[in-house]
Amino acid sequence: MSDIIRRDPRAEWIARNRLHPLHAAMSAPVAETRGPSGLIRKNPHAVGFIGPNGIKRIDRMNASGPVGLGGRRSASVAKEVELPLHRVAQVDYYIAVVPDMVGGRLSGHDRDVIGQAHALIREIGGAGAVLAIVFGEHREEAFDTAGVDRLLQLEGAQYEGYAPELRVAALAQVEQCFSPRYWLLPDSIAGGFELGRRLAARIGERPATSVWQADSARCTGRGAGGTSDIARDTPRLLLLAEECAAPVDETRHEVLPLTLDEPVSCRVQIEDCGLVAVDPNAISLAEAEFILSAGNGVHDWDQFHRAAEVLGATEGASRVAVDDGHMPRSRQVGATGTWVTARVYLAVGISGAIQHLQGIGQCEKVVAINTDIGCDMVKRAALSVIGDSEEVLAELIRLVQAYRLEEVDHAA
Ligand SMILES: Cc1cc2nc3c(=O)[nH]c(=O)nc-3n(C[C@H](O)[C@H](O)[C@H](O)COP(=O)(O)OP(=O)(O)OC[C@H]3O[C@@H](n4cnc5c(N)ncnc54)[C@H](O)[C@@H]3O)c2cc1C
Repeated sequence: MSDIIRRDPRAEWIARNRLHPLHAAMSAPVAETRGPSGLIRKNPHAVGFIGPNGIKRIDRMNASGPVGLGGRRSASVAKEVELPLHRVAQVDYYIAVVPDMVGGRLSGHDRDVIGQAHALIREIGGAGAVLAIVFGEHREEAFDTAGVDRLLQLEGAQYEGYAPELRVAALAQVEQCFSPRYWLLPDSIAGGFELGRRLAARIGERPATSVWQADSARCTGRGAGGTSDIARDTPRLLLLAEECAAPVDETRHEVLPLTLDEPVSCRVQIEDCGLVAVDPNAISLAEAEFILSAGNGVHDWDQFHRAAEVLGATEGASRVAVDDGHMPRSRQVGATGTWVTARVYLAVGISGAIQHLQGIGQCEKVVAINTDIGCDMVKRAALSVIGDSEEVLAELIRLVQAYRLEEVDHAA
């Protein structure tokens, strides 16, 4: 097994939240730890459990719950604690969700949209099921904990890449077969924005766009470039903004596969000629998906720029790096710089001052490279590499270049 210490942000969040149903299981004290000499030590205070009458009891059969070794119990317990299964045996109605599946996985935005679907089901009542429609291959392994009751995967090379006509034709067929009560899509540039509007035209629905609040009667969306709110009756088709609802996190769902009765066919007039290569630094920081950001812990600036180039990342910086003249002001991330929403934010030698963390609050995954294991950026990060930035970047460049060479070899 790998020695890399990995944090589990969800387990940590549950351990902090005393009202969470899994809190007790996650935060029970560790009964056995391995001491610095390598010996296993027992913590007598952690053995046993409090019985229903308030008296402490020792469980000699060791049946009162899993016990992990070492101080990193919460992460291991997180795997062992199984969320309750939510079953919909006889479906009364469907709520169709079309996730963006950026990189083949559910994004945070997709999960919010599925959360909104469940909020509508809770409000309407009855046996409603969330039907997720996914195009092409995917790499997602957590449809169950994201809240998907039924999954319709439309496989085939014809759905890969930019294929809006075929995708809309498939969704129109879903409309005929399953007549979903609502259609929910993320209103995002990753796909939902365009697909949702095309679907609206196809099925003759007037969609509500940029919706950040919705129930079965009324919904509110952003209008006028985000400067005002538009409230209206909730239509069947909703294009939802990020954080429209809390994602599902306390139940597991069945993810039963569904299929379409007939193959999808349509006249395709758009030819996908592939992606156009752009300079990542020509993308504005606010829109960049992958940011490599430098702080005071970066000393070899040529190496940093080379790493950004090799990784294909947009460059960002802390205020100190900007004030010291290493990076232009337009690259500053933070409260007085740009607020970024990257899917991956790789912070090199940045301590994680509050003004900087404010600017990366919306980032999906933060990775830290730092020498200080106790710094706030490491606490914020989902993955941290503790080491000298120069050494880590050198190794990163080497690995990425080797990976690219391997890809070229495979293609040849
Ligand atoms: C009003 C106000 C507004 C501000 N607005 C912003 C803002 O918008 N954005 C912003 O970023 N800051 C802002 N700041 C500044 C902020 O408070 C911090 O001073 C700044 O973010 C620190 O930058 P840093 O993390 O790069 O540097 P430092 O705090 O010096 O941290 C350097 C980090 O690098 C690590 N390190 C050192 N050597 C190495 C090495 N060889 N390898 C790996 N790691 C190493 C250290 O452990 C440390 O964690 C603002 C401050 C004020 C008062």
